[in-house]
Amino acid sequence: MEKVIVIGSGPAGLTAAVYAARANLKPLVLAGGMYGGQLMLTTEVENYPGFPTGIMGPDLMIAFRGQAERFGARIENVDATQVDFSKSPLIVRTVEEEYDAKTVIVATGASARWLGVPGEEQLRGRGVSTCATCDGAFFKDKHIVVIGGGDSAMEEALFLTRFGRKVTVIHRRDTLRASKIMADRAQAHEKIEFLWNTVVEEVLGSGHVSGLKLHNVVDGSRYTFDADAMFIAIGHDPNTEIFRGQLDLDQAGYIISPDGTATNVDGVFVAGDVYDIRYKQAVTAAGLGCRAAMDAERYLEAVEFPVTAAAAS
Ligand code: NAP
Repeated sequence: MEKVIVIGSGPAGLTAAVYAARANLKPLVLAGGMYGGQLMLTTEVENYPGFPTGIMGPDLMIAFRGQAERFGARIENVDATQVDFSKSPLIVRTVEEEYDAKTVIVATGASARWLGVPGEEQLRGRGVSTCATCDGAFFKDKHIVVIGGGDSAMEEALFLTRFGRKVTVIHRRDTLRASKIMADRAQAHEKIEFLWNTVVEEVLGSGHVSGLKLHNVVDGSRYTFDADAMFIAIGHDPNTEIFRGQLDLDQAGYIISPDGTATNVDGVFVAGDVYDIRYKQAVTAAGLGCRAAMDAERYLEAVEFPVTAAAAS
Protein backbone atom coordinates (compact mmCIF):
# COMPACT_ATOMS: atom_id res chain seq x y z
CA MET A 1 0.00 0.00 0.00
CA GLU A 2 1.46 3.34 -1.05
CA LYS A 3 0.91 6.28 1.27
CA VAL A 4 1.14 8.80 -1.57
CA ILE A 5 1.11 8.32 -5.33
CA VAL A 6 1.86 11.43 -7.35
CA ILE A 7 0.67 11.26 -10.95
CA GLY A 8 2.66 13.71 -13.07
CA SER A 9 6.14 15.19 -12.92
CA GLY A 10 5.97 18.86 -13.86
CA PRO A 11 6.63 21.56 -11.25
CA ALA A 12 3.42 20.61 -9.41
CA GLY A 13 4.05 16.86 -9.26
CA LEU A 14 7.72 17.11 -8.36
CA THR A 15 7.15 19.77 -5.71
CA ALA A 16 4.46 17.54 -4.20
CA ALA A 17 7.05 14.74 -4.30
CA VAL A 18 9.68 16.89 -2.53
CA TYR A 19 7.25 17.79 0.27
CA ALA A 20 5.81 14.28 0.61
CA ALA A 21 9.30 12.77 0.62
CA ARG A 22 10.52 15.22 3.27
CA ALA A 23 7.48 14.22 5.35
CA ASN A 24 8.85 10.67 5.13
CA LEU A 25 5.88 9.43 3.10
CA LYS A 26 8.14 7.83 0.45
CA PRO A 27 5.95 8.95 -2.45
CA LEU A 28 5.77 6.97 -5.65
CA VAL A 29 5.79 9.33 -8.62
CA LEU A 30 4.31 8.04 -11.87
CA ALA A 31 6.20 10.56 -13.95
CA GLY A 32 4.91 9.62 -17.39
CA GLY A 33 6.89 8.33 -20.36
CA MET A 34 7.94 11.93 -21.05
CA TYR A 35 8.73 13.22 -17.57
CA GLY A 36 9.10 16.85 -16.55
CA GLY A 37 5.97 18.39 -18.05
CA GLN A 38 5.78 21.40 -20.30
CA LEU A 39 9.00 23.02 -19.13
CA MET A 40 10.86 20.19 -20.87
CA LEU A 41 9.55 21.72 -24.09
CA THR A 42 10.45 25.28 -23.33
CA THR A 43 13.56 27.41 -23.59
CA GLU A 44 14.64 30.09 -21.18
CA VAL A 45 12.52 30.46 -18.03
CA GLU A 46 12.96 34.02 -16.84
CA ASN A 47 10.23 34.24 -14.24
CA TYR A 48 11.01 31.38 -11.86
CA PRO A 49 12.20 33.02 -8.63
CA GLY A 50 15.75 32.29 -7.60
CA PHE A 51 17.29 32.39 -11.06
CA PRO A 52 18.08 36.06 -11.74
CA THR A 53 19.66 35.34 -15.11
CA GLY A 54 17.06 32.70 -16.10
CA ILE A 55 17.35 28.95 -16.45
CA MET A 56 16.54 26.55 -19.29
CA GLY A 57 13.24 24.73 -18.70
CA PRO A 58 14.70 21.19 -18.92
CA ASP A 59 17.54 22.12 -16.52
CA LEU A 60 14.98 23.37 -14.01
CA MET A 61 13.01 20.14 -14.19
CA ILE A 62 16.12 17.98 -13.86
CA ALA A 63 16.88 19.93 -10.68
CA PHE A 64 13.31 19.41 -9.38
CA ARG A 65 13.63 15.68 -10.01
CA GLY A 66 17.02 15.41 -8.33
CA GLN A 67 15.70 17.24 -5.29
CA ALA A 68 12.70 14.90 -4.96
CA GLU A 69 14.91 11.82 -5.36
CA ARG A 70 17.36 13.11 -2.79
CA PHE A 71 14.65 12.89 -0.14
CA GLY A 72 13.49 9.42 -1.15
CA ALA A 73 10.81 9.91 -3.83
CA ARG A 74 10.66 6.88 -6.13
CA ILE A 75 10.16 8.13 -9.67
CA GLU A 76 8.98 5.77 -12.42
CA ASN A 77 8.91 7.03 -16.01
CA VAL A 78 5.57 5.39 -16.76
CA ASP A 79 2.08 6.69 -17.51
CA ALA A 80 -0.88 6.07 -15.26
CA THR A 81 -3.42 4.52 -17.61
CA GLN A 82 -6.45 3.97 -15.37
CA VAL A 83 -7.68 4.88 -11.91
CA ASP A 84 -10.43 3.57 -9.65
CA PHE A 85 -11.27 6.09 -6.96
CA SER A 86 -14.66 4.55 -6.15
CA LYS A 87 -13.47 2.89 -2.92
CA SER A 88 -10.58 2.70 -0.50
CA PRO A 89 -7.79 1.90 -1.16
CA LEU A 90 -7.53 4.11 -4.21
CA ILE A 91 -6.28 2.20 -7.25
CA VAL A 92 -3.89 3.50 -9.92
CA ARG A 93 -2.94 1.32 -12.87
CA THR A 94 -0.12 1.53 -15.40
CA VAL A 95 0.23 -0.80 -18.39
CA GLU A 96 2.13 -3.31 -16.26
CA GLU A 97 1.24 -2.63 -12.60
CA GLU A 98 -1.64 -1.95 -10.27
CA TYR A 99 -0.99 0.15 -7.17
CA ASP A 100 -3.10 0.61 -4.02
CA ALA A 101 -2.79 3.99 -2.38
CA LYS A 102 -4.08 5.87 0.63
CA THR A 103 -3.73 9.19 -1.14
CA VAL A 104 -3.21 10.27 -4.74
CA ILE A 105 -2.00 13.66 -5.93
CA VAL A 106 -3.10 14.38 -9.49
CA ALA A 107 -0.63 16.68 -11.25
CA THR A 108 -0.99 15.61 -14.87
CA GLY A 109 -0.83 19.12 -16.33
CA ALA A 110 -2.10 20.15 -19.70
CA SER A 111 -1.09 19.38 -23.32
CA ALA A 112 -0.52 21.61 -26.30
CA ARG A 113 -3.50 22.19 -28.61
CA TRP A 114 -3.39 21.49 -32.32
CA LEU A 115 -5.30 23.35 -35.02
CA GLY A 116 -7.03 20.30 -36.46
CA VAL A 117 -6.70 21.42 -40.09
CA PRO A 118 -5.89 19.23 -43.12
CA GLY A 119 -2.19 18.53 -43.56
CA GLU A 120 -1.30 19.28 -39.93
CA GLU A 121 -1.13 15.69 -38.73
CA GLN A 122 0.61 14.33 -41.85
CA LEU A 123 3.29 17.00 -41.59
CA ARG A 124 3.89 16.74 -37.83
CA GLY A 125 7.63 16.42 -37.33
CA ARG A 126 8.10 17.52 -40.93
CA GLY A 127 7.73 21.21 -40.31
CA VAL A 128 4.65 21.18 -38.08
CA SER A 129 5.52 21.38 -34.39
CA THR A 130 4.32 22.62 -31.00
CA CYS A 131 7.85 22.86 -29.61
CA ALA A 132 10.30 25.48 -30.80
CA THR A 133 13.00 24.25 -28.42
CA CYS A 134 12.78 20.76 -29.83
CA ASP A 135 12.49 21.58 -33.52
CA GLY A 136 13.55 25.20 -34.11
CA ALA A 137 17.15 24.37 -35.01
CA PHE A 138 15.96 22.37 -38.04
CA PHE A 139 14.85 25.59 -39.73
CA LYS A 140 18.03 27.61 -40.02
CA ASP A 141 17.60 30.50 -42.47
CA LYS A 142 14.05 29.36 -43.27
CA HIS A 143 10.75 31.21 -43.15
CA ILE A 144 9.00 30.10 -39.98
CA VAL A 145 5.36 30.72 -39.04
CA VAL A 146 4.06 30.81 -35.46
CA ILE A 147 0.32 30.49 -34.79
CA GLY A 148 -1.24 32.24 -31.79
CA GLY A 149 -1.42 35.56 -30.00
CA GLY A 150 -0.56 34.66 -26.40
CA ASP A 151 2.67 34.69 -24.40
CA SER A 152 3.61 31.25 -25.71
CA ALA A 153 3.37 32.43 -29.32
CA MET A 154 5.52 35.48 -28.55
CA GLU A 155 8.06 33.35 -26.71
CA GLU A 156 8.22 30.82 -29.53
CA ALA A 157 8.51 33.56 -32.16
CA LEU A 158 11.34 35.30 -30.30
CA PHE A 159 13.19 32.02 -29.79
CA LEU A 160 12.78 31.06 -33.44
CA THR A 161 14.44 34.29 -34.60
CA ARG A 162 17.68 32.59 -33.55
CA PHE A 163 17.24 30.22 -36.47
CA GLY A 164 14.84 31.53 -39.11
CA ARG A 165 15.58 34.30 -41.56
CA LYS A 166 12.03 35.53 -40.94
CA VAL A 167 9.29 34.64 -38.44
CA THR A 168 5.65 35.42 -39.20
CA VAL A 169 3.16 35.34 -36.33
CA ILE A 170 -0.34 34.53 -37.57
CA HIS A 171 -3.11 35.54 -35.19
CA ARG A 172 -6.86 35.14 -35.63
CA ARG A 173 -7.68 38.58 -34.20
CA ASP A 174 -6.10 42.03 -34.46
CA THR A 175 -5.16 42.24 -30.77
CA LEU A 176 -2.60 40.13 -28.95
CA ARG A 177 -3.53 38.27 -25.79
CA ALA A 178 0.13 38.24 -24.71
CA SER A 179 1.43 40.32 -21.79
CA LYS A 180 2.65 43.78 -22.80
CA ILE A 181 6.31 43.03 -22.19
CA MET A 182 6.28 39.92 -24.41
CA ALA A 183 4.12 41.59 -27.09
CA ASP A 184 6.41 44.64 -27.18
CA ARG A 185 9.50 42.48 -27.47
CA ALA A 186 8.07 40.47 -30.35
CA GLN A 187 6.67 43.49 -32.16
CA ALA A 188 9.98 45.35 -31.87
CA HIS A 189 12.00 42.44 -33.30
CA GLU A 190 13.28 43.10 -36.79
CA LYS A 191 12.84 39.49 -37.91
CA ILE A 192 9.22 39.15 -36.71
CA GLU A 193 6.19 40.12 -38.80
CA PHE A 194 2.51 39.78 -37.93
CA LEU A 195 -0.44 38.66 -40.02
CA TRP A 196 -3.64 39.76 -38.25
CA ASN A 197 -7.20 38.45 -38.50
CA THR A 198 -5.90 35.36 -40.23
CA VAL A 199 -6.49 31.65 -39.74
CA VAL A 200 -4.81 28.61 -41.24
CA GLU A 201 -7.13 26.43 -43.30
CA GLU A 202 -4.61 23.87 -44.53
CA VAL A 203 -0.94 22.99 -44.19
CA LEU A 204 0.59 22.38 -47.61
CA GLY A 205 3.53 20.21 -48.62
CA SER A 206 4.49 16.66 -49.41
CA GLY A 207 7.25 15.32 -47.19
CA HIS A 208 7.76 18.72 -45.57
CA VAL A 209 5.86 21.97 -45.09
CA SER A 210 5.98 24.22 -48.15
CA GLY A 211 3.18 26.65 -47.37
CA LEU A 212 -0.16 27.38 -45.74
CA LYS A 213 -3.62 28.05 -47.06
CA LEU A 214 -4.73 31.17 -45.19
CA HIS A 215 -8.05 32.92 -44.71
CA ASN A 216 -8.37 36.56 -43.75
CA VAL A 217 -11.49 36.54 -41.60
CA VAL A 218 -12.09 40.30 -42.05
CA ASP A 219 -11.82 40.81 -45.81
CA GLY A 220 -12.70 37.18 -46.61
CA SER A 221 -9.66 36.62 -48.86
CA ARG A 222 -8.07 33.19 -49.19
CA TYR A 223 -4.52 32.73 -50.42
CA THR A 224 -1.44 30.52 -50.32
CA PHE A 225 1.43 31.66 -48.11
CA ASP A 226 4.94 30.26 -48.53
CA ALA A 227 6.46 28.88 -45.32
CA ASP A 228 8.94 26.18 -44.33
CA ALA A 229 7.63 25.45 -40.85
CA MET A 230 4.59 26.07 -38.66
CA PHE A 231 4.89 26.21 -34.86
CA ILE A 232 1.52 26.09 -33.09
CA ALA A 233 1.23 27.96 -29.78
CA ILE A 234 -2.51 28.25 -29.16
CA GLY A 235 -2.84 27.05 -25.59
CA HIS A 236 -3.37 23.77 -23.82
CA ASP A 237 -5.95 21.19 -22.77
CA PRO A 238 -5.90 19.52 -19.35
CA ASN A 239 -4.73 15.90 -19.21
CA THR A 240 -7.75 14.46 -17.44
CA GLU A 241 -9.03 11.70 -19.73
CA ILE A 242 -8.28 8.93 -17.21
CA PHE A 243 -10.14 10.81 -14.45
CA ARG A 244 -13.38 11.25 -16.39
CA GLY A 245 -16.21 9.69 -14.35
CA GLN A 246 -13.94 9.52 -11.27
CA LEU A 247 -13.29 13.16 -10.45
CA ASP A 248 -15.50 16.19 -10.99
CA LEU A 249 -14.33 18.05 -14.10
CA ASP A 250 -15.47 21.40 -15.49
CA GLN A 251 -16.67 21.89 -19.06
CA ALA A 252 -13.14 22.32 -20.40
CA GLY A 253 -12.00 19.17 -18.58
CA TYR A 254 -10.11 20.83 -15.71
CA ILE A 255 -10.41 19.17 -12.29
CA ILE A 256 -12.74 21.04 -9.98
CA SER A 257 -11.43 21.83 -6.52
CA PRO A 258 -13.18 24.34 -4.28
CA ASP A 259 -10.05 25.02 -2.20
CA GLY A 260 -7.34 24.36 -4.81
CA THR A 261 -6.22 20.98 -3.47
CA ALA A 262 -9.14 18.73 -2.41
CA THR A 263 -11.26 16.96 -5.03
CA ASN A 264 -14.67 15.32 -4.74
CA VAL A 265 -12.92 12.08 -3.65
CA ASP A 266 -11.48 11.74 -0.13
CA GLY A 267 -7.73 11.24 -0.30
CA VAL A 268 -7.39 12.51 -3.88
CA PHE A 269 -5.75 15.91 -4.23
CA VAL A 270 -5.00 18.02 -7.27
CA ALA A 271 -2.11 20.34 -8.13
CA GLY A 272 -0.93 22.45 -11.04
CA ASP A 273 -2.20 23.20 -14.53
CA VAL A 274 -4.66 20.29 -14.50
CA TYR A 275 -6.67 22.42 -12.07
CA ASP A 276 -5.36 25.95 -12.54
CA ILE A 277 -7.12 27.62 -15.45
CA ARG A 278 -6.03 31.07 -14.47
CA TYR A 279 -2.31 31.33 -13.71
CA LYS A 280 -0.60 28.32 -15.31
CA GLN A 281 2.86 29.32 -14.20
CA ALA A 282 5.66 27.02 -13.08
CA VAL A 283 5.84 28.86 -9.77
CA THR A 284 2.09 28.65 -9.13
CA ALA A 285 2.12 24.97 -10.09
CA ALA A 286 4.97 24.37 -7.63
CA GLY A 287 3.01 26.20 -4.92
CA LEU A 288 -0.05 24.08 -5.61
CA GLY A 289 2.12 20.94 -5.45
CA CYS A 290 3.35 21.98 -2.02
CA ARG A 291 -0.22 22.56 -0.82
CA ALA A 292 -1.44 19.21 -2.15
CA ALA A 293 1.37 17.31 -0.42
CA MET A 294 0.78 19.10 2.89
CA ASP A 295 -2.95 18.40 2.68
CA ALA A 296 -2.29 14.75 1.80
CA GLU A 297 -0.02 14.50 4.82
CA ARG A 298 -2.69 16.00 7.10
CA TYR A 299 -5.31 13.70 5.61
CA LEU A 300 -3.12 10.66 6.31
CA GLU A 301 -2.56 11.79 9.88
CA ALA A 302 -6.30 12.26 10.38
CA VAL A 303 -7.04 8.81 8.95
CA GLU A 304 -4.28 7.03 10.86
CA PHE A 305 -4.67 8.88 14.16
CA PRO A 306 -8.32 9.94 14.32
CA VAL A 307 -9.12 12.33 17.13
CA THR A 308 -11.87 10.67 19.14
CA ALA A 309 -14.56 12.74 20.79
CA ALA A 310 -13.20 11.75 24.23
CA ALA A 311 -9.62 12.67 23.35
CA ALA A 312 -10.70 15.94 21.82
CA SER A 313 -12.72 17.05 24.83
P1 NAP B 1 -3.22 31.62 -24.19
O1 NAP B 1 -2.82 32.77 -23.36
O2 NAP B 1 -4.50 30.93 -23.94
O3 NAP B 1 -3.18 32.11 -25.71
C1 NAP B 1 -3.58 31.26 -26.74
C2 NAP B 1 -3.58 32.05 -28.03
O4 NAP B 1 -3.89 31.18 -29.12
C3 NAP B 1 -4.62 33.17 -28.04
O5 NAP B 1 -4.10 34.31 -28.66
C4 NAP B 1 -5.76 32.56 -28.85
O6 NAP B 1 -6.47 33.50 -29.60
C5 NAP B 1 -5.03 31.64 -29.81
N1 NAP B 1 -5.83 30.49 -30.19
C6 NAP B 1 -6.48 29.61 -29.39
N2 NAP B 1 -7.09 28.65 -30.11
C7 NAP B 1 -6.84 28.95 -31.41
C8 NAP B 1 -7.18 28.33 -32.64
N3 NAP B 1 -7.91 27.20 -32.67
N4 NAP B 1 -6.74 28.90 -33.77
C9 NAP B 1 -5.98 30.01 -33.74
N5 NAP B 1 -5.61 30.65 -32.62
C10 NAP B 1 -6.04 30.12 -31.46
O7 NAP B 1 -2.12 30.46 -24.14
P2 NAP B 1 -0.53 30.57 -23.99
O8 NAP B 1 0.03 31.61 -24.86
O9 NAP B 1 -0.08 29.17 -24.15
O10 NAP B 1 -0.32 31.02 -22.46
C11 NAP B 1 -0.91 30.28 -21.40
C12 NAP B 1 -0.52 30.91 -20.07
O11 NAP B 1 0.89 30.75 -19.82
C13 NAP B 1 -0.79 32.40 -20.03
O12 NAP B 1 -1.23 32.74 -18.75
C14 NAP B 1 0.56 33.01 -20.29
O13 NAP B 1 0.71 34.30 -19.74
C15 NAP B 1 1.51 32.02 -19.64
N6 NAP B 1 2.83 32.04 -20.30
C16 NAP B 1 3.79 32.88 -19.79
C17 NAP B 1 5.04 32.96 -20.38
C18 NAP B 1 6.08 33.86 -19.82
O14 NAP B 1 5.79 34.61 -18.90
N7 NAP B 1 7.31 33.84 -20.31
C19 NAP B 1 5.32 32.20 -21.52
C20 NAP B 1 4.32 31.36 -22.03
C21 NAP B 1 3.07 31.30 -21.42
P3 NAP B 1 -7.42 34.58 -28.89
O15 NAP B 1 -6.50 35.59 -28.31
O16 NAP B 1 -8.25 35.09 -30.02
O17 NAP B 1 -8.21 33.82 -27.88
